[in-house]
Amino acid sequence: MFENLSEKLQRSFKNLRGQGTLTEENISEALREIRLALLESDVNLDVVKQLIEQIRIKALGTQVATALSPTEQIVKIVNDELVNILGKDTARFKFSSQPPSVILMAGLQGSGKTTTSGKLAQWLKKGGHRPMLVSVDVYRPAAREQLAVVARTTGTSIYEGKLDPDTTHGTADVLRLAKEAKRDAANFGCDILIVDTAGRLGIDKELMDEMAELKKLLNPSEILFVADAMTGQDAVNSAKAFNDLLAITGAVLTKMDGDARGGAALSIRQVTGAPIKFLGTGEKPDAFEPFHPDRIVSRIMG
Ligand code: GDP
Repeated sequence: MFENLSEKLQRSFKNLRGQGTLTEENISEALREIRLALLESDVNLDVVKQLIEQIRIKALGTQVATALSPTEQIVKIVNDELVNILGKDTARFKFSSQPPSVILMAGLQGSGKTTTSGKLAQWLKKGGHRPMLVSVDVYRPAAREQLAVVARTTGTSIYEGKLDPDTTHGTADVLRLAKEAKRDAANFGCDILIVDTAGRLGIDKELMDEMAELKKLLNPSEILFVADAMTGQDAVNSAKAFNDLLAITGAVLTKMDGDARGGAALSIRQVTGAPIKFLGTGEKPDAFEPFHPDRIVSRIMG
């Protein structure tokens, strides 16, 4: 187990108990511990540097609050700063004024995009919506089949479309399927279309061009970047790449049931400016929850 940040600070301040002021010296000591704790929580190095600077400025400018020990003061500053970055409230989900609203799912292969599409469909249904799913991964029949299974298990409508199994398909087919699905959703009275896109093992130009074209065609109300919380730094790099091109509206962090410490949430938010909207907490369709910034902060702070 990690020693949590509060404990670490407690330890580094053990000689200062009773001394109610934050001095430059004890702030520097605390910042060293905070830096380590954030790095251990998988927060991106650049983000850690920015954060430490912000915390230093706040701490130096803090009035002496006699009721709080130096540790408590610093813990409070760090806590406030993290919540500040993540945003205090759970982010809202956006819909178009003209249904169907399109949710474009973006992310690398294996991040949990298909699973999350199903979870999102189920969550939206609970909220009284009628979602439809479509996979535009024309390159991998197995990916489309996986979404069909997800649709069956969650009892969600799906647009499967037609693709000749003997032909190689490309972006033109992706766009055709997406367009047909949007029309089909409207015809069937579905108010939301969730578009599961092709993932690659890494960022490549072809994938990015295709995503940009999908965005242009579908005018999505949400572009959700799905990231595996366990992949830490890689998740941050791909978040940046997807955001630069698509201006994502939010992120979903999957596999939070593992021992990911949640630092990726902070980094993705800081690097893209987009809010984390949901967490995936298991493989089952209901292992999914709206993101609460304070819970991640407690996970990081311990
Ligand atoms: P895609 O390639 O991005 O569509 O990823 P998938 O949806 O196929 O997910 C990849 C793997 O991660 C699958 O084995 C999923 O069951 C698993 N997975 C997805 N989300 C979660 C999650 O929140 N927790 C856990 N433990 N596994 C997940």
